[in-house]
Amino acid sequence: MQQVKVAGLNPIESADFYYLRHYYFYKMTEKNLNKPNSDIPSQIVMSGIRPTGMVHLGNYFGAIRNYVKMQDAFECYFMVADLHSLTTHPDTKELKSNVRRVLAENIACGLDPEKATFYCQSHIRETGELYLYLNMLAYKGELEKTVTFKDKARQHPENVNAGLLTYPVLQTADIIMHRASYVPVGKDQEQHLEMARNFVVRFNHRYGEIFPEPHAFNYNQELIKVPGLDGTGKMSKSENNMATLYFADEDDMIRKKVMKALTDQGPTEKNAQKPDYIENIFMLMKLVCEEDVISKYEDDFNNCSIRYGDLKKQLAEDMVKFMAPIRQKTNDILANDAYLVEVMEKGAQKAGESAKKTMDLVRNAIGLNYF
Ligand code: AMP
Repeated sequence: MQQVKVAGLNPIESADFYYLRHYYFYKMTEKNLNKPNSDIPSQIVMSGIRPTGMVHLGNYFGAIRNYVKMQDAFECYFMVADLHSLTTHPDTKELKSNVRRVLAENIACGLDPEKATFYCQSHIRETGELYLYLNMLAYKGELEKTVTFKDKARQHPENVNAGLLTYPVLQTADIIMHRASYVPVGKDQEQHLEMARNFVVRFNHRYGEIFPEPHAFNYNQELIKVPGLDGTGKMSKSENNMATLYFADEDDMIRKKVMKALTDQGPTEKNAQKPDYIENIFMLMKLVCEEDVISKYEDDFNNCSIRYGDLKKQLAEDMVKFMAPIRQKTNDILANDAYLVEVMEKGAQKAGESAKKTMDLVRNAIGLNYF
């Protein structure tokens, strides 16, 4: 495959883009042949993050790291998914401060509101309308089978609300509001994106080709799930707290959590396959450690001489080095409320313009244009 250099990306990543662009171009061309006047964009990115707690390394690996790279190559829309958070967190006492924290943490991780449109979901009122239309195209049976719905219903049997059931529909409305094709998300969102494609196909089939089919995206092709440091579940904003590394954690807390990460006696056979929880530790190392450090521990693992205590000490220090500046930057941004308000206002305006354009197309396509 020819390697094409896209600004800010290394050649391997550029090659991914080369493939993706041609794949989508091919798909769009195929559609355009059937509908000569359709004008479906293929270079728009959209994703969101819920303000249900503090941003963690799983959010960073699964989503934010990709946001930061994509903002240089695409038209990007990123949002704080405050309405989604109401499905599981109906108490809104801390919503305002959580929204600000998530905004600040994303910016501290490298999201640039000057490059990407960064906004709050609830500021785009059109989303409610699109959600309503899409609800007519979503079936109860498929929604009930969604893994995240079943999980959440099990975790909160006292609050199995319709919003939880139709979460993938609202998420589809968010994505297609900007006619996005690429959705940088973690592995937990894979099924939702599959559903989004189904809703889009149904909409386009019934009312005309308005929307591109959205696809989950990660630069390394495979979607990522960062498991908890205890080897179970996943890093999460609201569960598994001691096994999750939050950007808000103080240095000693980061050290404590890393030192408690699940390991074992070490491999007994040379070049053995790593268990998932060990693979996870190496994955964290790849994020924050120097290459020679990683290859030393890879070699130690492969020749059965690895000392996990040493590895964790090194990882803890490198993790502190990586995470502490983001924490400090977050605190600086949080101290400047006027800046955060400005980010929200600008984001609402830019995302609002895009939403208005889409809703004009949608209302016309459905036939809600009586005068
Ligand atoms: P949430 O925190 O559920 O709002 O998720 C925000 C983004 O982070 C979504 O794209 C998720 O797929 C991603 N994400 C959340 N937790 C993880 C995790 N443990 N590993 C990888 N990605 C994650």
